[in-house]
Formats: sequence, C-alpha cells, structure tokens
Amino acid sequence: MADGLMGDKATIQVQSHLQFENVSFTYSHANKPTSVFEKTNLSIYEKEFVTILGPSGAGKSTFFRLAAGLEQPKSGRIMIQGKEEANRLGKIGYMPQQDLLLPWRTVLENGLLPLEIKGMDKKEASDLVKQHMKKFGLEGTENNYAHQLSGGMRQRVSFLRAILGGNDILLLDEPFSALDSMTRFMMQEWLLEQWHEWEKTIIFITHDVEEAIFLSDRIFMLTHPPIEGNIDEVNVPLSRPRNEEHRSEADFMELKQNLFKKMRAKEQFL
Ligand code: ADP
Ligand code: MG
Repeated sequence: MADGLMGDKATIQVQSHLQFENVSFTYSHANKPTSVFEKTNLSIYEKEFVTILGPSGAGKSTFFRLAAGLEQPKSGRIMIQGKEEANRLGKIGYMPQQDLLLPWRTVLENGLLPLEIKGMDKKEASDLVKQHMKKFGLEGTENNYAHQLSGGMRQRVSFLRAILGGNDILLLDEPFSALDSMTRFMMQEWLLEQWHEWEKTIIFITHDVEEAIFLSDRIFMLTHPPIEGNIDEVNVPLSRPRNEEHRSEADFMELKQNLFKKMRAKEQFL
C-alpha cells in the first residue's frame, strides 16, 4: 500500500496542468479549409511561465482558442490536470488580444464582472475589487472609464479581471504588443511579480523573441500552420527574479541569437 501511495505521488508530480495529446484542428468554415494543428502534442506544468512564440498567422491564437474551449479539436484530447475536459470555458482564464474592457463601465465595474458572474454579494465584490486595485497600482481610477486610462493601466485592469476569475491557468494573448517599449518593459517586470505572487500557470503569446526570453521558463516555437507533432521548445535557463539587467547579459544575448536562428531554420523548411 505504501508503495502504491508513493507511486501515485510520483504520478501527480509529473502531471501536466494543461496537455494537448494528438490534437488536430482545421478551420473548415472558411472558403479554403486551413489545417492549423495535426496530431500536436504539448505539456505545460503547474506554475510554469511558458510562451508561445511565432509570427502573425502561425496559429498562436488558435492554440489559445482551443485551450480555452472556444474551439474543439477535430481529434485528440485536451486535458486539464490529467482529465479530458470538453467544457474548458470557465476553467481557464483567457485574456484576449483586445483588452475587451467594457467602455460603458467604469474600471471598478469592469473589475466586478467576473464576481457578478459568480453571484457574489455586491458589497463584498466591490471591497474585493478595490483591494486588488490597490495591489495593481490602480487606486484612484475606480470611477474612470477605459478610454481615460493609459495602455499599461488598461492591461492591468484586464489582468485584474482575469485574476478575479479565479482560474489557475491564465492565457495571455499578446497583451503588451500595442504598448510603447518603455511601458512594455515595465509591464513585463510587473507581470513576473504578479506571476510570482499569485502562483498561476501562465501561457503567454508573443511574436517578440526578447519578450519571450525575458518572461519564460520555456518557449514553444510556431512558424506556420499546420503545426505537426510535438511543438519545438526551448528552455530558458536564466535565473529569477529577472530584471532589466538580465537583458544585457551574455547568456540572454546568446539565447536571443539562438532563437532567431532556430526560427529562421524552421521557416526554411516551409
Ligand atoms: P496568430 O495568432 O499566430 O497570428 P491565428 O491562430 O490567428 O494566428 O491563425 C492561424 C491560421 O488560421 C492563419 O492561417 C489564419 O488565417 C487562420 N485562421 C484564424 N482564424 C480563422 C478563422 N476564424 N477562420 C478561418 N481561418 C482562420
Ligand atoms: Mg493572434
């Protein structure tokens, strides 16, 4: 019996938080069907920070739509914590490319959305959002509307909403791509602090090699659909916590060059 328990424990430790197993997916409603995934495999583990890196049209958002349950695979399985989940909507926090803050709602009211959906008491929900706003550097913006906020602030409200959704896996689709480079660098550091504090599994999409390296434990590389079999991945062996100085370190630069080379080599096969 003791052996059996040990065995179970060992299995739990290596279990993926999110897993794609032989997943195939084709957009068939278009004039010309586009096969995006062909028997694709990938595993993401608990509390990892992984990035899906690739140029426009590579299939990054489609990966998210599948993971979040907005699309279903043609064949294969998508598993959360080892269990096949057909209904993934609501089990994975999803922050789409557009921040989707409701323009007619104030910052506070936008933050309240996921709690309203859960049916939380109004006063309790409002207190909780305000508490989080303070942590997210959004104090004093409660009654502002989205258009009155800076790009960085909008993304923080959006992230706050994803956190309040209460899911352990967060998918962030190019959240910083519209920001100027200074704000972007600051938001990357900010996001790493949040990831550390909330202990979430984060899957981040970007087309920016440097951003992928700065943030991630592992990077999955996509270049062009269809993506077949195992997705190519690269480990990022840089120490944490990461800050501005890491960007100019030799290891960082070398990794950046390697990644560029790998992405280029992958494209040549097409
Ligand atoms: P990325 O997010 O990496 O830019 P997408 O996942 O959006 O890429 O797109 C991958 C491929 O699927 C592209 O060839 C794109 O044209 C196609 N595609 C994306 N969304 C749809 C859709 N709703 N219908 C048909 N084809 C689509
Ligand atoms: Mg996209």
